Amino acid sequence: MNRTKINELSKKINETVVIKCWISICRNQGKMIFLDFRDASGIVQGVILSDSAALEVGRSLRTEWVVEVTGKVNERPERNKKNDVQNGDIELEVLDVQILNKAETLPFPIDGDTRSVDENIRLKYRYLDLRNDRMQKNIRNRSMVQKFLRDYLYNENFIEIETPLLSAPTPEGSRSFVVPSRIWKGDFYSLPQSPQQYKQLLMVGGFEKYFQFAKCMRDEDTRGDRQPEFTQLDMEMSFTSEEGIMQLNEKMLIDLVSVNYPQKKIQQVPFPRMSYAEAMEKYGNDRPDIRNDKNDPNLLAFLWVIDFPMFEKTGEDNVDNTGEWTFTHNPFSKPKDQFMEDFMNMKNIAGILTTQYDITLNGFEIGGGSIRNYESATLKKTFEIMDYDEDRIQVNFGHMLKAFDFGAPPHGGIAWGFDRLMMLLENEPNIREVIPFAKTGEGKDLMMNAPCDISSAQKSELGIKIV
Ligand code: ASP
Repeated sequence: MNRTKINELSKKINETVVIKCWISICRNQGKMIFLDFRDASGIVQGVILSDSAALEVGRSLRTEWVVEVTGKVNERPERNKKNDVQNGDIELEVLDVQILNKAETLPFPIDGDTRSVDENIRLKYRYLDLRNDRMQKNIRNRSMVQKFLRDYLYNENFIEIETPLLSAPTPEGSRSFVVPSRIWKGDFYSLPQSPQQYKQLLMVGGFEKYFQFAKCMRDEDTRGDRQPEFTQLDMEMSFTSEEGIMQLNEKMLIDLVSVNYPQKKIQQVPFPRMSYAEAMEKYGNDRPDIRNDKNDPNLLAFLWVIDFPMFEKTGEDNVDNTGEWTFTHNPFSKPKDQFMEDFMNMKNIAGILTTQYDITLNGFEIGGGSIRNYESATLKKTFEIMDYDEDRIQVNFGHMLKAFDFGAPPHGGIAWGFDRLMMLLENEPNIREVIPFAKTGEGKDLMMNAPCDISSAQKSELGIKIV
């Protein structure tokens, strides 16, 4: 007999069916055994009656065992119907049970709210944590939103393009993870902090509208709710403007909420805009929480923050080893037109504002982008302002400067912090709740035990000695 999914059972009243599932609950009442069965489509209550041939095997069953159940779908008597649970109007009368696999007692309970369980244990046994209702919902909704955004962008004539993970290092504001090359001993690939350069080169390559759900890797010191790898919805467009990109993204966010989260309301449409200076003056940060009611879990207050300074003085965490000045957001951003003259003359550097726009939601930055310097002379100026010498400019960015000399179109883009957006949409306290296989705040994968030592054979093959 073909397998029936649990969410199709209510259409099969009085029929005999086969389901394949886990046992969520097992209550042996002596004469009868009540069981809750669960598959990816839902739950149903089953009962093994006292005269059932399945009674004996039924007594041996335990929660989280995987079973194949043959049973008859019965409508429950009116007084036993439950409106508030899935399949509350039916019950599966169990005729036969085949045990497909047994399960040890789980290290923590997965019914109820697993957020109260020690997170290290949840992360070590993430595959069990993922069986929990709330985690199932979060990961399924993540997929639903990804599909929505993909469809949306395809409809807008974007194309989805993958960019390399094994790449070269570029100073982009954070540290890069590196991967040693076996063939080219002593040389290293770098993992991308974002697809920034590739997506701009795709514009030079003539694609005009690109997007990607991109894995980004940043080797940062432990900073609360950060993950060493995270997902961006990354976009780049040619022949566009700040306004064009902001409008497209705003509409996409509004549609995303109204289609997928109809219970939520957006505080203000069109999204308000605030200058960086005003945000700092009024709120003391550049991602102000402008919600009217911070206790309303369904309120979404989007805000564009614009008019950022392009450069700031280098501080102690000067990972790029730049001179007196470093970029605030993105070295590839273009200054606003009215500051182009100062920029090219390297004057009033502190006062130069960039085309950068950040999108914030309820006090979190959920995305940012800019219009780019698409001519080699202007791009080079940014590095000159940051005091890079010619050698360093050529080594790090020579390929970009060269590419821009072959007819690069004006272009710009944006990237969303997709995990953070999902965290906010799902009302979760941190991004680990919406990432299927998250690492700890200290960057450890407790399930796979990474990072970890490698064999000495592998080290010598790579020409690596640990000091
Ligand atoms: N690449 C930038 C970032 O990762 C986003 C962008 O400017 O498109 O923040």
